[in-house]
Amino acid sequence: MTIAIDGPVGAGKSTIAQGVADALGVLHLDTGAMYRAMGLKALRAGIDPKDAAAAEALCAETDISVEMGANGQKTLLDGEDVSSLIRTAEVSAAASDVSTVKAVRRRMVALQQACAKKASMVVDGRDIGTVVLPDASFKFYLTASPEVRAKRRYLEMQQKGEPGSYEEVLAAVIARDDQDMHREADPLRRADDAFLIDSSNLTLDETIQAMLDVIREAEK
Ligand code: C5P
Repeated sequence: MTIAIDGPVGAGKSTIAQGVADALGVLHLDTGAMYRAMGLKALRAGIDPKDAAAAEALCAETDISVEMGANGQKTLLDGEDVSSLIRTAEVSAAASDVSTVKAVRRRMVALQQACAKKASMVVDGRDIGTVVLPDASFKFYLTASPEVRAKRRYLEMQQKGEPGSYEEVLAAVIARDDQDMHREADPLRRADDAFLIDSSNLTLDETIQAMLDVIREAEK
């Protein structure tokens, strides 16, 4: 069984995907972490992550892999565990930039498809229902208003003691939405057969439950 969850930044995809995977006793693959690892590599190499030729060359000499387990996903960049290092605002922006490069996407999509063949899993990202797993058993498009998504991110940053204002977070959310939805290669869009879930007025548990209801109803 494969379950695809796509949606814009800050919709809570990763946490919700993990919750659904735990409830079903299957693995969770966070594909954004792979683009983030590539974004980190581009930053370290000092290249412009939007420079297609440079990003393609760098990607060809980069090894990205994931280890999925009960305690979540470990993301490895050339063998180094970068799971925490990839969670900064700088890497978020670099990941969004590098993910516009077609050759990078082709490589990541192939890696993700190979992973999904190995076991039942919930896979979250931007192009899972449309490109990576067009034949997924279930597809969800998870969204929430930009304001709600920015507020969630801002609260998270405050809890971690990270600097930044709500206005800055909202501007970054809108900029990343715009880039993810309007890039030429595999833009973020809802697959025709994806269930739409708007979590603006739902808690995490309610959102997870809404997905489980759809899955269990279909399995009756
Ligand atoms: O989901 P997350 O915010 O970690 O993803 C980081 C960036 O990676 C996104 O802004 C998006 O540009 C890119 N991405 C993508 N396709 C995916 C997953 C993430 O283009 N399947």
